[in-house]
Amino acid sequence: MHSPIDLHSHSNCSDGCLSPDRLVARAVDCGVAMLALTDHDTTDGLPAAQQAASDHGLCLVPGVELSVNWGKQPLHIVGLGFDAASPAIQDAIDRNTAEREERAGRIARRLEKAGIPESLAGAQGEAGEGAPGRMHFARYLVNTGVVARHQDAFRRYLGRGKPAAVASHWIDLETGVAAIRAAGGVAVFAHPLRYGMTRTRCREAVAAFAADGGEAIEVVGGTDGPNDRSAAMALARRQGLLASLGSDFHDPEFPWRDLGWLKPLPQEAAPVWDRLDPAIAEHARAVLA
Ligand code: MN
Ligand code: MN
Ligand code: MN
Repeated sequence: MHSPIDLHSHSNCSDGCLSPDRLVARAVDCGVAMLALTDHDTTDGLPAAQQAASDHGLCLVPGVELSVNWGKQPLHIVGLGFDAASPAIQDAIDRNTAEREERAGRIARRLEKAGIPESLAGAQGEAGEGAPGRMHFARYLVNTGVVARHQDAFRRYLGRGKPAAVASHWIDLETGVAAIRAAGGVAVFAHPLRYGMTRTRCREAVAAFAADGGEAIEVVGGTDGPNDRSAAMALARRQGLLASLGSDFHDPEFPWRDLGWLKPLPQEAAPVWDRLDPAIAEHARAVLA
């Protein structure tokens, strides 16, 4: 169940709990030799993560997790191995950051109507210098005793169909994939089975992603059920996509989703690192040997 490669993780530059350098240190402790930091709509953590990776002898893959809209359906697209200084990727990030800030105001107004005042300042406090997302609202609701656990915050207030659920207007799928490609990166369809879409709808979303230039899909994730790997592999096969794997680590308090806690890719999968920088691809093959 353990993988030396983990290509999906979050730091406190988005909604993770650890600073980039502590995240890298934990990855090393967990036996991860190659890590992608993929914060939501920010690359701010990459310089500190790279510094820590150099200090620890870990191979850091530059990453990001872009929120996009496919029609009204929100999706997450991970970008790997891009140039973070590229104006294309930073423009996409800027647009989503503006939307995240506006959305936070909408969520706070809904929470206020539900009897919970001042959540915007609370969520902003949890987010630090970043834009407040739903996870920050969830932590605020836990810390103020409104709910016991962050899952309850989603179940009662923030999740789909609940009082503080709001529509999001992210960049569209095509724009997100194009931004990653323009920055020299590989676009990865994140956690395909976690959107609550029907299987048919999910196949359509992955087909649209591939038509827009998406090249890879997460076949192995940190919270997979027993049949998820084969279902995700079927989606990869159908569109001829490369395969990625990542824990989606956020918080040491969620031990079921720890760094590197992953099944291996299926034998038949073509791994995404073969499309990354040749030095990274070689490193990946070496740590798996
Ligand atoms: Mn998150
Ligand atoms: Mn995600
Ligand atoms: Mn994620």
